[in-house]
Amino acid sequence: MDYKELANLVFPDAKDISYYEEKYPERNLPEGAIVTRFAPSPTGYVHIGGLYQSLVARMSAKKTNGVFFLRIEDTDQKREVENGVTDIVNSLKVFDMAPDEGMISETEWTGNYGPYIQSKRKEIYQSYAKYMIEQGKAYPCFCTPEDDEKRTKAQLEAKIRPGYYGVWAKCRNLTLEEMAEKIKNGEPYIIRFKSSGREDRKIQVSDTIKGKVTFPENDLDIVIIKSDGLPTYHFAHMVDDHLMRTTHVIRSDEWLSSVPLHVQLFKEAGFKAPKYCHISPIMKNDNGNKRKLSKRKDPEAAVSYYDELGVPPDAVKEYLLNIANSTFENWRRQNKDAKIEDFDFNLNKMSVSGALFDMVKLFDVAKIVISRYSAEKVFNDSYVWAEKYDKELLNLLDNKDYALKVLGIERGNAKPRKDIAKWSDLKDNISYMYKEEFDKISEFTYGNISDKEEISKIVKLYVEKYYDKNDDKQTWFDKMKDLAEELGYAREVKMFKQEPEKWPGHVGDISTVIRVTLTGRQNTPDLYEIMNVLGEDEVKRRLLK
Ligand code: GLU
Repeated sequence: MDYKELANLVFPDAKDISYYEEKYPERNLPEGAIVTRFAPSPTGYVHIGGLYQSLVARMSAKKTNGVFFLRIEDTDQKREVENGVTDIVNSLKVFDMAPDEGMISETEWTGNYGPYIQSKRKEIYQSYAKYMIEQGKAYPCFCTPEDDEKRTKAQLEAKIRPGYYGVWAKCRNLTLEEMAEKIKNGEPYIIRFKSSGREDRKIQVSDTIKGKVTFPENDLDIVIIKSDGLPTYHFAHMVDDHLMRTTHVIRSDEWLSSVPLHVQLFKEAGFKAPKYCHISPIMKNDNGNKRKLSKRKDPEAAVSYYDELGVPPDAVKEYLLNIANSTFENWRRQNKDAKIEDFDFNLNKMSVSGALFDMVKLFDVAKIVISRYSAEKVFNDSYVWAEKYDKELLNLLDNKDYALKVLGIERGNAKPRKDIAKWSDLKDNISYMYKEEFDKISEFTYGNISDKEEISKIVKLYVEKYYDKNDDKQTWFDKMKDLAEELGYAREVKMFKQEPEKWPGHVGDISTVIRVTLTGRQNTPDLYEIMNVLGEDEVKRRLLK
């Protein structure tokens, strides 16, 4: 009995790997092109960290004219949920980050390196497991779960490292004949990798993000094919990233400690290992303690949360790039209108430790992103959001022409308004521009001038003498000053500041009275524009109310 015969006994029908090596040839790409992937499990939840990884991977691929693909890792079928793949595909689409290749629905994919879902690659893994057995680098293991339990217990009692290695790796020392015998007798088995590593030796790996990292060699005979015939993550990673011709494995740093094993698997199989790029997790400041954003504790860990709030996907991406490369912020300041894809993203410049996630900063970024939108885009995007989440906002947007005017206030100029971070802010932000909503306001809080009679006097004089719907902005402004002067207030703020005792107030106080009377608020965008949008009848109605 030799290895080849044993391999044939284990996998009689598996194809020779040369079939797959030819079917999935080296990619014909420009020098330096990065081929990378997002490889989530379909657990029905897309973590913001996953989106972050995909963004980093996609930017890296795009920049080098490479390939970004989506591979679904569903070998742990207990964790799967219905429509898990669709959730992932849709999330990427929402963020305008569709992959170049990979899954596009629960069952379909595009690209020449598929299937891009592991449960459909069983035969491929078996071929490569067979090949490993032929090379004497893998073997069938007949230990039962009870055997494993006993072994772990004995190891823990003796205070030694648990695991299937060295003298504890019982089945690795069976003769080929003994193995064949057991298989013929129908004993159940799994396939293990035969490690040649030693725990007392070190291996150094150069990680693109983390730099040089040193670990003990892997000496565990890990499982590569489980009892259900599917591979473990480690083996599937090696086979898939080899056959999909991945050049860079960009993934979460929870996998960093597996690198010695992964490098060893590639080496023993005789394949070139990809470059590893381990991304630090996004952290949260929790009462002064830095910890990972948690799926259980933090709503903001779920990508769906941003959709619910109505933070535009662009804004989330832009914020994540801020975290990814500290040079982004400066670049953005200098390239206000550029597409973020044009940013010269650099994997080497990612931070080694986890970046802090800051919601306030994210909202600030979102305000700037939305400030660059046209009224039409604000309308369209907020409308789609409102259809899903906010019927009252939908009502306000019902009259599109009017909504466009409202949303167009202080937009498209050099200093656009930056007061909307998310569509869930919008209703409150614009409600006073609507008659029915305005009429619901029961309390008007005025500023420096709060005396009711004084307010009436100011408003009355303004409507009767100064308000004219045809005024241009300068005239309108001058009239506010004239109004102030006529009522005995300073017509310039500067004048007031020079001799504050001389005046009861200044033109700013007067216009606050008009503003609050017209909108119910002390802070609004440009009052002149607001009045134009409200129109003469409504302005007069509110002033005379
Ligand atoms: N399926 C693994 C995970 O979701 C992927 C790790 C990798 O990118 O290789 O963590």
